[in-house]
Amino acid sequence: MKYKLFIGKISGIKIFVHWTFALLIAYVVYNDIKAGLGTTEILWSVAFIFALFGCVTLHELGHSLTAQRYHIKTRDITLLPIGGVASLEAIPEKPKEELLITLAGPLVNVAIALILLPFVHWPDTTEALQELSNVNGNNFIMSLLSVNVTLAVFNMIPAFPMDGGRILRALLAYKLDRVKATRIAAGIGQAVAVVFVILGFYGNPFLVFIGIFIFLGAQGEARYAAGRALVKGVTLKQVMMREIPALESHLTIRDAAQQLLQGQNKNFIVLTNNNPVGTLTHSDIIKALGEQGENALVENAMDKELISLPADTSLEDGLKQLQLSRKPLALVTHQGSMIGIVDAQNIAEFLLIKQAQKN
Ligand SMILES: [Zn+2]
Repeated sequence: MKYKLFIGKISGIKIFVHWTFALLIAYVVYNDIKAGLGTTEILWSVAFIFALFGCVTLHELGHSLTAQRYHIKTRDITLLPIGGVASLEAIPEKPKEELLITLAGPLVNVAIALILLPFVHWPDTTEALQELSNVNGNNFIMSLLSVNVTLAVFNMIPAFPMDGGRILRALLAYKLDRVKATRIAAGIGQAVAVVFVILGFYGNPFLVFIGIFIFLGAQGEARYAAGRALVKGVTLKQVMMREIPALESHLTIRDAAQQLLQGQNKNFIVLTNNNPVGTLTHSDIIKALGEQGENALVENAMDKELISLPADTSLEDGLKQLQLSRKPLALVTHQGSMIGIVDAQNIAEFLLIKQAQKN
């Protein structure tokens, strides 16, 4: 995700705020102005948004720091107008770990609510009704407390991608295999989503939006778990292309483009004296044609950073390393020599075939 602003680093975890967050602030200010509120009240409501997102950040840190205890790193935490996202580098496989990592988020909100509790000035009922609509100095802490309770309760809804969905899956996974547990949790999630959408049509349109969000999240999670089960036990040796599309480094980009047009291959390994020295992708060729002209040499257009993975690497780890390196392909090696390559296209093909065989 681009267009996000770095705001800080806690325990090695970078925290970003997405640009659409500015839209949220603008929306709140616009609504306040439309409602005829004064500058002080507008400042209070903006301060409230910041405090709320501070709590969301702490919630996400709850997940990330617990994950760290199980040696799962967090790539970053991004704050979006709809909430926070902590991108963990791996999803915990053990039910107990997933349970604790997930529970940690809502528990942070419960803890914040408990800490705020002694500082709340509870208004009498008539006053409360008047003040409910907008945040000010008198009800700021009370509002922050209630929003933390809401966050904890809302996140415990047993539907992906809410924390409650993950907790449900983890509990089911104690008894069932992971794919089945995910499928059941996703099914329940989608049922909840449908109820949300229906309720939303009768009352709060925001629920329709949340319902759709949950529905898609559940679907994605079920597919992801099924995909992981599909690649389980598979090594790169089984997936790799044995016929290596290669180009000599002294060839020109014109020759490379010719090869691109004549064959099926989109990505090439560049060789010098039969040794791999780099990679040249479809987009490298197009880029070089535009920037350096067709007489440029392959060796000047190639990517010199080669990734090589041993043939007995699991497909899952291989995919992860490809993704982390942001490289389109990797060499597959056996005892130091190249025996094949893997790229996104042939991995996708492998998965499609496996999927088809299963049905
Ligand atoms: Zn959470």
